[in-house]
Amino acid sequence: MALTNEYLKNILETVKKRNPGEPEFIQAVTEVFESIEPVIEKRPDLVEAGVVERLVEPERQIIFRVPWVDDNGKVQVNRGFRVQFNSAIGPYKGGIRLHPSVYIGIIKFLGFEQIFKNSLTSLPMGGGKGGSDFDPKGKSDGEVMRFCQSFMTELCKHIGADTDVPAGDIGTGAREIGYMFGQYKRIRNEFTGVLTGKGLTYGGSLARTQATGYGVCYFTNEMLKANGMSFEGKTVVISGSGNVAIYANEKATSYGAKVVAMSDSNGYIYDKDGIKLDVVKEIKEVKRGRIKEYLDAVPTAEYHEGCKGIWTIPCDIALPCATQNEIDGESAEILVKNGCKVVCEGANMPSTPEAINTYLANKVLFGPAKAANAGGVATSGLEMSQNSERLAWTFEEVDAKLHNIMINIFKACDEAAKEYGEEGNYMAGANIAGFLKVAEAMKAQGCV
Ligand code: NDP
Repeated sequence: MALTNEYLKNILETVKKRNPGEPEFIQAVTEVFESIEPVIEKRPDLVEAGVVERLVEPERQIIFRVPWVDDNGKVQVNRGFRVQFNSAIGPYKGGIRLHPSVYIGIIKFLGFEQIFKNSLTSLPMGGGKGGSDFDPKGKSDGEVMRFCQSFMTELCKHIGADTDVPAGDIGTGAREIGYMFGQYKRIRNEFTGVLTGKGLTYGGSLARTQATGYGVCYFTNEMLKANGMSFEGKTVVISGSGNVAIYANEKATSYGAKVVAMSDSNGYIYDKDGIKLDVVKEIKEVKRGRIKEYLDAVPTAEYHEGCKGIWTIPCDIALPCATQNEIDGESAEILVKNGCKVVCEGANMPSTPEAINTYLANKVLFGPAKAANAGGVATSGLEMSQNSERLAWTFEEVDAKLHNIMINIFKACDEAAKEYGEEGNYMAGANIAGFLKVAEAMKAQGCV
């Protein structure tokens, strides 16, 4: 779908000129612009207030040196990032990605997406994102700790419980959050809810670990119900085997589906009898091992090198939960040819624009990341509430609130899509509903 609105086309041109060499950021902005075209045509007041021009420019971008000493006593230097994108509806909020592929364009795309996602949760959280090109894989605990402490030594100058509240993302789990929280507390001499995804002994929320994966399935379930289907008896393929993938598997299985494939960045496993999740949890959560080790426990399963092949496995429902642009147009065609009826995104922007066009053209039900994986940040918002109250809610309380938030996110997407003549296009609905709340807040706060 090409943009036709001149105003948006001009802004997109400026974005391309100002942000050269950042294709993921341009991709994320383009997708949102294509969806909000009908809103812009109906709302000259938002044009007058310059909302869109301001929305595509981060409020603040911080890039910093992260020096640390490895186990051999050698100095290593990584680059750290924090993009504080938009604070119209609350303090900046978004995860920290630790992966060698991280550069400013990745952090900007993620931060931009986060604005709309956080808006959809209905909680008061602005959009931000951070990270580093540090790779925790293969590093000792001591090395990870020294990196995290150095990273936080700089980052702590820019964040705070009412300013900017980072969380986990790829490569940043409970271990890394713990080290970062410890360093923040030590330098700032305050025990506050400055990070989410914390351990349960020091202010973390029950159900935060499960939240993104469960939330993806709560959203998928609503989408299925609205279209006269259910998870029961369905075959599911899930990419990734990290935090999101594992708990998406757990919830899909509890809904009566059979998950037959999972992956990591080296390859994928196929178990026609259904993946034994306890084996995957042991490999990934306890041993920090590789997915191919699954075959040591389940020799009847298959392992294939490479990530793309996972989308050639016939399934009813595909849940991409690894990384951006992991389903391209060709893989989407294969999914459709093999009878896939639903794609719901656990990862951020895992489908290329060509893949999305293929889903929409073939009436595949499509749950876009900024709606479908919002359960993680929503539960981070609930962690912030518990920290402010100095209380801890039970797993059941948090899970019930998460479930309710995901039902409401689906409703918001569905209703916005209908209102703007795009019934069934939940991507358009998510972008429109997420945008409108932020746009109203920006307009109300004047030109800042
Ligand atoms: P994890 O680090 O726990 O797991 C990431 C998984 O994806 C691993 O299996 C990893 O394999 C695989 N992966 C990472 N990069 C690549 C790559 N370039 N190619 C193929 N596979 C890759 O991260 P999360 O589960 O937390 O995050 C997964 C996705 O979900 C990301 O897009 C993240 O932004 C998104 N997300 C996460 C949220 C959360 O709460 N955790 C919230 C909302 C979105 P390997 O181990 O080999 O690297």
